[in-house]
Amino acid sequence: MIYQRSSALFAEAKKYIPGGVNSPVRAFKAVGGDPIFVKEAKGAYLYDADGNRLIDYIASWGPMILGHAHEPVVNAVVEKAKKGTSFGMPTEIETQLAELAVSMVPNIDQIRFVNSGTEACMSAVRLARGYTGKDKIIKFAGCYHGHSDSFLIQAGSGAVTFGSPNSPGVTQGTAKDTLLADYNDLEGVRALVEANKAEIAAIIIEPIAGNMGCIIPKEAFMKGLRTLCTEENILLIFDEVMTGFRLGKGGAQEALNIPADIVTFGKVIGGGLPVGAFAARKDIMGHLAPEGPVYQAGTLSGNPLAMSAGLAMLTELNEQPEIFESLARKTAYLHEGLDGVLRKKGIPYQINRYGSMISVHFTDQAVVDFTSSASGNNDTFKRYFHGMLEKGIYLPPSAFESYFLNNALSYADLDETIDALDGLALG
Ligand SMILES: *Cc1c(COP(=O)(O)O)cnc(C)c1O
Repeated sequence: MIYQRSSALFAEAKKYIPGGVNSPVRAFKAVGGDPIFVKEAKGAYLYDADGNRLIDYIASWGPMILGHAHEPVVNAVVEKAKKGTSFGMPTEIETQLAELAVSMVPNIDQIRFVNSGTEACMSAVRLARGYTGKDKIIKFAGCYHGHSDSFLIQAGSGAVTFGSPNSPGVTQGTAKDTLLADYNDLEGVRALVEANKAEIAAIIIEPIAGNMGCIIPKEAFMKGLRTLCTEENILLIFDEVMTGFRLGKGGAQEALNIPADIVTFGKVIGGGLPVGAFAARKDIMGHLAPEGPVYQAGTLSGNPLAMSAGLAMLTELNEQPEIFESLARKTAYLHEGLDGVLRKKGIPYQINRYGSMISVHFTDQAVVDFTSSASGNNDTFKRYFHGMLEKGIYLPPSAFESYFLNNALSYADLDETIDALDGLALG
């Protein structure tokens, strides 16, 4: 395929936008080459600036779970737009989406809408600190909770020390309040809690991780986290920005049967418009302004266009929960197909899958945490990514990203994807 026009547009974009993109992963740094500029999309397909048709496995990083330009969502937004796009005043549709979300997700009574997953996680942590009166949080290496300062932290020296900034601009003062643990390592978390007795406000986790590829938590790890949090008066925050309304109506809480204290959302809940949200029991949410002292606000929060897209999306998922099973079946089919082809190629690989999330890692280690995810061979990944792109298959341009299947994908699309891999030389 030819990607000439995309390359020209990228060169032009770089003049006016840092790196040519408004979010770094889009720039293809991890795989090399120029990013694809999209012109439009419908169902499972992207149509790019050169007129190519690509089968999409990113779905805008998750939101387009029913496929692109899904008619009920588009119609809801168009109708709403005609009546005004923002008021900065309460509207009924905010309550409608809140009520629906609360009815679908276990263990939450109230929800507050924001404009991104970043805002949701940032606000959830502030709420947890305000509620518990404690300052520190624990996060897991390789989990992503948006780009607010508290989360841009890498492991410090020594296992039981505090983290250090992993971006210039994040202060040591902020970093000292974020402790780093390894995913699936309960003993490591216990040691951190012990060493910071009565100082930890919250543990935040992607309950099924999707930002170091797809990683599944061990049952004893998740159960242990829940017990530890309850015993130590620590709030367990499930970052369900990816998993919420994707793994099922009730997200990972329901899939894993583990209750969280605060849950964050983004991606699917906005139906492709900028929405995030955080939710909890009433006694926790009651600490938020204007009811309580924990401040949180947003000029465009609960924006009517965003709410109408979210409402159309969640309504369909709520009324047709078989969509989740359909997605899981398609993902299992893709898994089996890719597995069959890769087995013949004689190179080490792992495939992780949960529901409609799946990722391929070129390593012989089981991928259970950030270290094992990072052990993948990036040269092989690059050949894989670009080889598939040449054949019109659009995969995430980084080995650390999960694929998100959308329900517009047909079995013929999946077969085309598997066949594309069959023809690739990866070694
Ligand atoms: C995407 C993502 C975020 C950040 O959401 P934005 O809308 O990009 O700010 C947070 N947490 C998880 C798990 C995510 O996947």
